[in-house]
Amino acid sequence: MVCKICSKRPVITISGVKLCKDCFIDYFERKVKRTIRQYKLIDKKDSILVAASGGKDSTTALYILNQLAKQRRQKIAAFTIDLGIGDYSKKNLSNLRKFCKKEKIKLYEFSLRDEFGYSLCYIKSILASKGVKLKSCTICGVLRRHMLNKLARKLKFTKVATGHNLDDEAQTILMNQFKGNIWLSAKLGPIGGAVKSKSFVPRIKPLYFCSEKEITLYSKLKKFPVQYRRCPCSVDAYRAKVRAMLKEFEEKYPGTLNGIINSFLEIIPYLRQKQKGEVGLCERCGEPSMQKLCKACEIIEKLR
Ligand code: SF4
Ligand SMILES: [Zn+2]
Repeated sequence: MVCKICSKRPVITISGVKLCKDCFIDYFERKVKRTIRQYKLIDKKDSILVAASGGKDSTTALYILNQLAKQRRQKIAAFTIDLGIGDYSKKNLSNLRKFCKKEKIKLYEFSLRDEFGYSLCYIKSILASKGVKLKSCTICGVLRRHMLNKLARKLKFTKVATGHNLDDEAQTILMNQFKGNIWLSAKLGPIGGAVKSKSFVPRIKPLYFCSEKEITLYSKLKKFPVQYRRCPCSVDAYRAKVRAMLKEFEEKYPGTLNGIINSFLEIIPYLRQKQKGEVGLCERCGEPSMQKLCKACEIIEKLR
């Protein structure tokens, strides 16, 4: 067995195609750069803040974006929030510090404890004790997006990049569809922008067309210092079921994930057209919000 492109050995089989290590790395990086070009994710004048957790997805996005930024002489930095999830968070943070030091990337570090007084698990149990039952991932997502947007705007970054991949996006599309929340999917896509607001720093997903399998392989071949276990708080049973179902389908019928994403990309302009309009500002913190109080301020209010 030899590589389909260069006839070298040994080979890796990805989506039914056999490639050697170098050709796989080249294929993967080309795919990310094509996504950036095709969906105009980054403009020459952009400066990019990457939301990094220390995991394989965001570290991969950070690495490739940093290589591009060096070529284009663009400003780039990483942003992380210590969620206070025991050893898992500690290891992620030390890995990320090591990676940023090696790649000479400025890292902005924050912690939920410093910002809100408690770690993620405490916030969840305090809210539960007051009758507000929110999943860890919901709280984590709301607070992280809030802090990320605030910092990006303050430091004048023009784009925020995340490590969302093909599997994440396909799961979210199906979950919204199954729950009858198709309009929530208007926020998805390689670049955010269902609603416009000057206070909202657009979010981009350069790994949009890369599967979790490909990212795992790329990060292992590049020897990134990352841990591969799942976050201990990711106990969203519904997402886990959808993930398992999609995994089984992708194994039996390769191309399922791409099929979901490609058909979704055809309908997203229609979803966004229906959601046109300006978003308001939260009356407490001034961040973009559809309601009087943004979701983060609602959580903070309940924590008091
Ligand atoms: S799995 Fe959930 S709780 Fe863990 S980091 Fe991701 S969003 Fe946060
Ligand atoms: Zn607010």
